[in-house]
Amino acid sequence: MPFSQLGLSAPLVRAVADQNYAAPTPIQAAAIPAALRGGDVRASAQTGSGKTAAFVLPILQQLSANRRESGRFVRALILVPTRELAAQIGEATRRYARYLPDPIKTLVVYGGVSINPQMMALGGGADIIVATPGRLLDLIDHKAVSLAAVSTLVLDEADRLLALGFTEELGRITALLPATRQSLFFSATFPPAVAALADELLRQPTRIEIAAEVTTAPAIVERAIEVDARQRTQLLRHLVEENAWTRVLVFVATKYATEHVAEKLRRAGIDVSALHGELSQGARTEALANFKATKIRVLVATDLAARGLDIDHLPVVVNYDLPRSAVDYVHRIGRTGRAGESGLAVNFISAETHAHFQVIEKRNGLTVAREQIAGFEPESTEVPAPRVTGTGGVKGKRKSKKDKLREAAGQALPNPPVRGDRPVEPVVSRALVAEPKEFFPWAQRVMVGRRTM
Ligand code: AMP
Repeated sequence: MPFSQLGLSAPLVRAVADQNYAAPTPIQAAAIPAALRGGDVRASAQTGSGKTAAFVLPILQQLSANRRESGRFVRALILVPTRELAAQIGEATRRYARYLPDPIKTLVVYGGVSINPQMMALGGGADIIVATPGRLLDLIDHKAVSLAAVSTLVLDEADRLLALGFTEELGRITALLPATRQSLFFSATFPPAVAALADELLRQPTRIEIAAEVTTAPAIVERAIEVDARQRTQLLRHLVEENAWTRVLVFVATKYATEHVAEKLRRAGIDVSALHGELSQGARTEALANFKATKIRVLVATDLAARGLDIDHLPVVVNYDLPRSAVDYVHRIGRTGRAGESGLAVNFISAETHAHFQVIEKRNGLTVAREQIAGFEPESTEVPAPRVTGTGGVKGKRKSKKDKLREAAGQALPNPPVRGDRPVEPVVSRALVAEPKEFFPWAQRVMVGRRTM
């Protein structure tokens, strides 16, 4: 079915035609007509499925039919977990609104940058606000914006919003919304807490479930290369050069590792940048812009920084460090192979992370063949016993603040709850979690337990 038959107005169809989309994706074909009818939508859709247009296009159509009231009102509110995703949705909205007869004022607001320009921009209200929850509440507290006239609420990546500990913020925000409104709820997964939130917010929603295989994400080839942990940077360099990879997103576990790996690659003559949450917003935007413009070949990033990035034509993702959870694995590899292109996801597996990768495979119903690259064969696939120093610590692995918090979380949950042979995912409160990505604070311990068995 072409876009012109979804019930969208001519200016919107024209803006979509500019994007050269051949046809609506399944989520668009299902959600756009439902949202245009004015009802609520509850959609399970992965990143890369085309979900942004699925909620932005109907919103634009509805907003362009009516005028905005004067004052600090906002008519459509899109809540997202990260600033990168907010910026991306803001850009997409402006592209799709291009030919509408009356301008649609779209503002993107997120934390980590000065609030003053955002307060100024909000003068006179806005048609659409794309926001992260914390900053939106700050703006409300400053009386810079009122949610009393919101006609449409979108929760995008709702599972991630909860995983990042935004439950309380979401409660405060939704309490400020008019009871009569349209709500569009998008989430890649629906664990019980997310399903409960959807039940609370939605009224007789149209339920849309798009299986991962039928989204725009095509075959992503997944590889698991066995390599000793200390050889990973050399292997990465070898693969980038040998395969003439033009653009590679490399995931590592820590901010320090982004800088460390990037520095080593830089010394080897590869154009590279690090991307992590503690960089200034300006530095993050610049690194991303350079990567998108292929001025740099390799971007070494943490999960948090890379979450929600939409980079066209990203052929390769490398898990230099494995993600902590199986859900994060899906998000990471979903950065490649977007919108119908093929993609490659490469995992580095060492003796220490072998068991963890097995858990990721099992939870995602995957089996990825192990391979070795000539010249980088691991010395051993046995898990080395930790070297204990006189002070009782593990040499070369001082406990980080995060490790300590994780331990505290572990003590609070003496035994991971187990259903069958699978640990049950606990709902972890923000207080227990140092960083949002620490989804399963006891996961580390489960792995250690299995290793020593
Ligand atoms: P999203 O899931 O919204 O992040 O979209 C992922 C990518 O798919 C973006 O680069 C969009 O521009 C692209 N996209 C959205 N809709 C379509 C479509 N109907 N056909 C092809 N690509 C699309």
